[in-house]
Amino acid sequence: MHPVITQKDLEDSIRTIPDFPKPGIQFKDITTAIKDPDIFNYIVDNIVEYYKNKGITKVVAIESRGFIAGGAIASRLNAGFIPVRKPGKLPSETYSVNYSLEYGEGILEIHKDALKQNDIVMIHDDLLATGGTSLAVIELIRKFGISKIFLGYIIELDFLQGKKKLEPYPKYSLIHF
Ligand code: AMP
Repeated sequence: MHPVITQKDLEDSIRTIPDFPKPGIQFKDITTAIKDPDIFNYIVDNIVEYYKNKGITKVVAIESRGFIAGGAIASRLNAGFIPVRKPGKLPSETYSVNYSLEYGEGILEIHKDALKQNDIVMIHDDLLATGGTSLAVIELIRKFGISKIFLGYIIELDFLQGKKKLEPYPKYSLIHF
């Protein structure tokens, strides 16, 4: 019998590390949540439950913490898994985009043959902060002519107002801090 996990158990299982990776950032560490199999299942079950009837054909997950639950979610939704990676990691031809996030900036890439125009996509990452990373991934996905895009996160940092940047796209976050 699995113990019943509550929303509070999940919140309590996430560790906050002050001043990581830069001074002033309160880093939300999910490793303390996902090491518990019941909490890991709770995360996957909840996001799958929320999105199971949307016809999602591809889960696009963001390197690297988006890969952790992203694969399990894709499998459970019977969708394909598409990695968005940091530059130079994907072996075939890519589209790329510059982005900035709460504590830095960078480039993200997706394979040019990853998606088709009629795909229904869910973007997954562990955490939504300013929304810069997700907006960049939306830009990548729109290169394929795709308009049906859903967003799914474990954690959302409400005070950074990332949702404003992502307004037209339906979003689900399991926890709000
Ligand atoms: P943003 O683009 O600002 O929404 O930042 C989201 C991305 O940066 C995600 O890939 C997160 O994993 C990471 N991130 C940003 N801020 C934090 C934070 N406070 N704690 C943990 N991860 C963060």
